[in-house]
Amino acid sequence: MKAAFLTGHGGNEVVAVGERPKPQRGPGEILVRMKAATVNRVDLYMRDSGAGITHALPQIMGVDGAGVIEDADSGALIGRRVTLYPGIVCGACEFCNRGEPVLCAKMSLLGEHRDGTMAEFVCVPAGNGLCVPDNLDFAQAAALGVNYLTAWRMLFTKARLQRGETVLVFGIGGGVSLAALQIAKAAGARVLVTSRSAEKLRRATELGADATVNAPPDGIAREVMDLTQGRGVDVAIENIGGPVWNAALKCLVRGGRIVTCGATIGDQPPADLRRIVIRQLQIFGSTLGNPDEFSELLEWCAAGRLKPPIDARYPLEQVGAALAHLESGAQFGKIAIDI
Ligand SMILES: [Zn+2]
Repeated sequence: MKAAFLTGHGGNEVVAVGERPKPQRGPGEILVRMKAATVNRVDLYMRDSGAGITHALPQIMGVDGAGVIEDADSGALIGRRVTLYPGIVCGACEFCNRGEPVLCAKMSLLGEHRDGTMAEFVCVPAGNGLCVPDNLDFAQAAALGVNYLTAWRMLFTKARLQRGETVLVFGIGGGVSLAALQIAKAAGARVLVTSRSAEKLRRATELGADATVNAPPDGIAREVMDLTQGRGVDVAIENIGGPVWNAALKCLVRGGRIVTCGATIGDQPPADLRRIVIRQLQIFGSTLGNPDEFSELLEWCAAGRLKPPIDARYPLEQVGAALAHLESGAQFGKIAIDI
């Protein structure tokens, strides 16, 4: 079968598109004929080093994806449109048993620890295939599996966002940031977004952002305080790190919550413990989400409350160009791979 896979670590020259063995479906698994995937930051990380993530080359790329079930134990599943939950979990550890499989210490992620979604076929446990609502195409359905699921868990499970609260989303344009904007708006929050790109802020406003901030890190807090009558925001959604982390802490109202799911420009910012203590701030780390959370997200999509914007689509043969597009940071919305 045709697939996009890594032959080594480095730049785009280690990304190959060619033949790989078709996976053999085991008991309890579904064989999915893939239709679309999207590229994520972690694909760049896997391409460039994959350090700290146990994997063997060559490995097929792609963490999220959607397609049609071609074979399954139950004939009733065949032909069903599904989007894939990217984590294959043990189902037996303390975390799996208490309904938090996303914490499973043995979790194996598509495109990270095992062959991924940028292939004609993928085999996963049947529970990893979630039904796609009719109003989403395959690229939109694929887009949900990493960024939207991550943002969903950050806002609802971690920050316990309430209608009418104010959310500050850093670095709008990135996958998780855009997802957080859309989900928070759909939940009835007021949403402020930051970017250094006036064009991205304009597009975020079109997507529902209530106010925008275009300032260097040390100027963000002042603008956010102006936009909130000196109060600060209830929730900050952050995945940049470095100097932005400190700015984010300064934007929070007393008792406010900050949720981080990454650190693209630095993972060792000053902690500002005095501010955290005196203002009783709450800090959450988060990554991905549970299948149950994914199901709720899909229900919102089915109800027309959410639809991921697709910035660009590339055929599988041009996965290198799609990765370069992601790396450029110029995108606004997901970059999809049609398979
Ligand atoms: Zn487990």
